[in-house]
Amino acid sequence: MSFTKAPFLLLGIGLLLSTPTWANIETGPTKAPSRPKNIVIMIGDGMGPSYTSAYRYYKDNPDTEEVEQTVFDRLLVGMASTYPASVSGYVTDSAAAATALATGVKSYNGAISVDTQKQPLPTILEKAKSLGLSTGVAVTSQINHATPAAFLAHNESRKNYDALALSYLETNADVFLGGGQKYFTPELLAQFKAKGYQHITRFEDLASITQPKVLGLFAEVQLPWAIDEKDAKKLSTLTQKALSLLSQNDQGFVLLVEGSLIDWAGHNNDIATAMGEMDEFSNAIEVVEQFVREHPDTLMVITADHNTGGLSIGVDGKYNWNPEILRNVSASTDTLALAAISGEQWQADLARGLGFELNEEEIAKLTVARMQGLETIAVAIRHVIDKRTDTGWTTDGHTGTDVQVFAAGPASELFNGHQDNTDIANKIFSLLPKPKKPKS
Ligand code: MG
Ligand code: ZN
Repeated sequence: MSFTKAPFLLLGIGLLLSTPTWANIETGPTKAPSRPKNIVIMIGDGMGPSYTSAYRYYKDNPDTEEVEQTVFDRLLVGMASTYPASVSGYVTDSAAAATALATGVKSYNGAISVDTQKQPLPTILEKAKSLGLSTGVAVTSQINHATPAAFLAHNESRKNYDALALSYLETNADVFLGGGQKYFTPELLAQFKAKGYQHITRFEDLASITQPKVLGLFAEVQLPWAIDEKDAKKLSTLTQKALSLLSQNDQGFVLLVEGSLIDWAGHNNDIATAMGEMDEFSNAIEVVEQFVREHPDTLMVITADHNTGGLSIGVDGKYNWNPEILRNVSASTDTLALAAISGEQWQADLARGLGFELNEEEIAKLTVARMQGLETIAVAIRHVIDKRTDTGWTTDGHTGTDVQVFAAGPASELFNGHQDNTDIANKIFSLLPKPKKPKS
């Protein structure tokens, strides 16, 4: 593929021009090579462009005239189309999108790295492993959810959670970090231990893990909403640990990090919780960005698998969006709903949790919803927040809009401009080391 050649040539010339004198006065880290030794792929599940825009205004310091840049603004390089194989139309699910990003081949919605004939497709992580690199995943969903599963396994359906968990035994990945205890039976865990895996379930025990291999499952299914654990920064911690474990391999590594729950908040049309998940993912990106600064032989590529919810920043003909309200919401709407259902002083509690006084109209609607149960009041609380902030949604599913691509490190310029999601995978494949020829 010709796109890989030009940057390498240019960098090659750059290296020839740098004289020993330059090298002597250079105090920073050594010059970046043309081809990365390590690759970190980061996916914000459901994180369409309106999420990164909303996050910018959510994080804006209102005391300054300027709107401050986010990590996404800093790292943006291009866009990607996300459509699945034609049999599934133009709007992808997370499984088909992750298959495209993991294998470079489009498939049907629901496919876990199998083609439209249900035949397995080699993944970036498998290829990397076969070349002697270390591999791992760090995610906020269960580790056998669609996105990480497509990088690690093959199945005709994303719904076959137990089969996916079982197939992880054969991946030989070095690091599994995320949720999903309920899919790993004692028998299966015994098999992982027999293969040399350390198994932990308490987040505090992560510190005691100093070398691969590790199977860290920190929740029954997904990790808690980030907004419910304000300073926990769990995805950042998992990412940092994965980097320190995987970088022990001199041959290099490929790591997948996913902000999985951005999508789940999007499906719920829950803007406050979505911004909490965006913050969680953005903190993890900053951890990787720092690693890239200290290890110039590391490439980071970030994208979304699709856009969720049809999030709109402004609604109803009004030229307005009020993120300052979101900054004061102190818990997820799920948690607020649970408290509102059970508490005696529910109106006062809810007002405190939301960070604003409820008006009569809001109280009337919430009172009716509360009598209909937990789900209904959670939805009603989200509607109150949407109305106060002028946030809109067009669907509780996905939309077919293009997503952004962000990158830094060696060969990051390969991802400039428009591309397809399969191109992202094929470019990453092209950056993996070539298999060593046997000596004659
Ligand atoms: Mg996902
Ligand atoms: Zn989704």
